[in-house]
Amino acid sequence: MRITARVISLLSILFLVACGGGDGNVEDGNAKESNVSSDYIAEKTVFAMDTVMSLRAYGPNGEKALESAESEILLLDQKLRRGSESSEIYAVNAKGSAEVSEDTAELISAALDIGESTGGAFDISIAPVMDLWGFYTGEFYVPSEAELSDSLAKVDYRNVSVNGKTVSVTNGAQIDLGGIAKGYLSSQIIDIMKKNGVASSIVSLGGNIQTLGTKPDGSSWKVGIQDPDNLDGYIGVLSISDMAAVTSGGYQRFFEQDGAVYHHIIDPVGGSPAHSGLKSVTVVSADGTLADGLSTALYVMGLNKGTEYWRSHDGFDVVFVTDDNKILITKGLADMFEGRSEALIIE
Ligand code: ADP
Ligand code: MG
Repeated sequence: MRITARVISLLSILFLVACGGGDGNVEDGNAKESNVSSDYIAEKTVFAMDTVMSLRAYGPNGEKALESAESEILLLDQKLRRGSESSEIYAVNAKGSAEVSEDTAELISAALDIGESTGGAFDISIAPVMDLWGFYTGEFYVPSEAELSDSLAKVDYRNVSVNGKTVSVTNGAQIDLGGIAKGYLSSQIIDIMKKNGVASSIVSLGGNIQTLGTKPDGSSWKVGIQDPDNLDGYIGVLSISDMAAVTSGGYQRFFEQDGAVYHHIIDPVGGSPAHSGLKSVTVVSADGTLADGLSTALYVMGLNKGTEYWRSHDGFDVVFVTDDNKILITKGLADMFEGRSEALIIE
């Protein structure tokens, strides 16, 4: 038996090097500090939630905003880290019920709403199954049917409840916010930017992108969607402002055993890595939390159910990349997406 583990692509979507002007300077590490105007760029890189987070803010308040953003990142990382005994999630999982901070309660409520609306395709009580496959420890393991059904018996988002600031789990449920925490954090960071008077900002939390306003020159941000088959390439570019763009794909975190590939997005029906006919799903929304939760959920649901879901819910658009390399976009992105190959538009 041979197991190889690979964790790749911390940055599943990257912000592209913008052409011309000050941006070019920054990408080369030569920001012009004398230029304290709306073009002034503050940048910060933080390692948290097991990934690399890069933040960029334009204008004179950028540095101060990034200081606050960094504190928020470290704070939320600490509160949500499932394996850390001092975290709020650890307390809920270990004690069955615990009082958490307002933002943790808000995040879990949002996650449960997405669980409800996706019919459980998104399920934050997936922790026991993630553990069984070894995704949390990195000691990967392909479980038997019996082991899977034992762990699955504990998985049901309806066993998680939020009452004010008290979060409770029943029937063995254990919370794992890996599918949504970064999206919530990027929303919080954008709020911090606004509060600090920043009007133009882009953050990438391990590939979860969220943007505030436009670039200082008034043009939209260019966000590349990674090619699942060639991680240095893009299947297309989104032009967005005031939006989050979040990609989920089986290619992002996986292990191989005996020639089979097992990735980290689990179909709560069956408890195995989802095989829904998609290589990746990118969700674009003004709501970063929703974008993150839905990217995971729609990846599990697949193209047909995902399209049905999009038609019956507001507030987001989607880029689907299928196993046979077709690109399909929902019609809200028609003017915002430029594909390497022609994309079919979902109406
Ligand atoms: P990324 O790892 O890039 O953030 P996702 O946002 O798709 O990608 O999140 C995947 C993570 O979500 C997994 O590592 C796991 O923690 C969690 N997860 C896996 N399957 C599900 C699911 N069906 N519902 C909710 N969370 C899930
Ligand atoms: Mg997600």
